[in-house]
Amino acid sequence: MKIFVLLLTVLSLFGMILFSRRNSDIQYDDINVPTYSDSGPDLLYMPLTTEPPEAPYPPCFPENENIYIPEPPMIDDSQEEMIIEPVSTQPRFNLPPGPLIALTFDDGPSSLTLKILDILEYHNVRATFCVLGNRVVDQSRAPTILRAVNGGNEIVGHSWNHRNFVHMTNEAIEADLRNTSDAIEALIGYRPTLFRPPFGVTDYRVEMLLEELGYAILHWNLDPRDWENRDANHIYEHVMHRASHGDIILLHDIFEPTVEAVKRLIPSLLESGFSFVTASEMLWYLYGDIAPGWIYKGGEYEPIRTDPLPMEYEQ
Ligand SMILES: [Zn+2]
Repeated sequence: MKIFVLLLTVLSLFGMILFSRRNSDIQYDDINVPTYSDSGPDLLYMPLTTEPPEAPYPPCFPENENIYIPEPPMIDDSQEEMIIEPVSTQPRFNLPPGPLIALTFDDGPSSLTLKILDILEYHNVRATFCVLGNRVVDQSRAPTILRAVNGGNEIVGHSWNHRNFVHMTNEAIEADLRNTSDAIEALIGYRPTLFRPPFGVTDYRVEMLLEELGYAILHWNLDPRDWENRDANHIYEHVMHRASHGDIILLHDIFEPTVEAVKRLIPSLLESGFSFVTASEMLWYLYGDIAPGWIYKGGEYEPIRTDPLPMEYEQ
């Protein structure tokens, strides 16, 4: 009996080690955000207006000025012959001077995205929005995304409704990605190459599947955990104490304190000499190529690619 208990303990410990293998250094970006539903009323957010509100600030992107619109990525989604090659080898734009920093906003668009856009436009800076497919297809939110794109911001997919890919079948993940990219493409005309996994969580199987489908994985290296603390001061101080060249910062355009923090962060970072770029621009600057299946974090991190599980662990 004792041997049996011992064996059981050893086995469960072994299981825990295996299970935590990929999650040990992963920060969960929004673990306590309630489950999103892709149908029915969404009580988590305030209703959105159908038109963008009158900008309280002067517009910063006059027509005909050079606005950066990303090129459509070279993705063959015919699913017959998948071409896997680096998406880009050269930055396609003139980078602004100074140390670079990239703000990324997950889980929108929401009504608060409009406030974030007001702030970005006022300071004439750009950011990246990692959007949920089920929010993109909401007609009332379309003007928000179009306004973001017209302002030179980048749109990145963040799944259809924020389910954890690790717990989904390959077929379900493929459908999720296809639906999300279709929704984005229908609105803005291109399919993002970058994908930010829900909760930032992937495993080897998911990463291989993302590679096969032509997606590069966008993580972050600076996380003020706005989803957890919901405290503008904390978010502001956390970023200001750590900000350095190459940072990709994780934020969420669904929390009011995040908006308050961003209102203070952008002028402070500009004053400190930072220039704001989108996630793709940052990756191009830091790494050159952006290749499907690789994980990009920014900051001091090199791109990584998970090694396959050793043979003895494979099912
Ligand atoms: Zn998220």
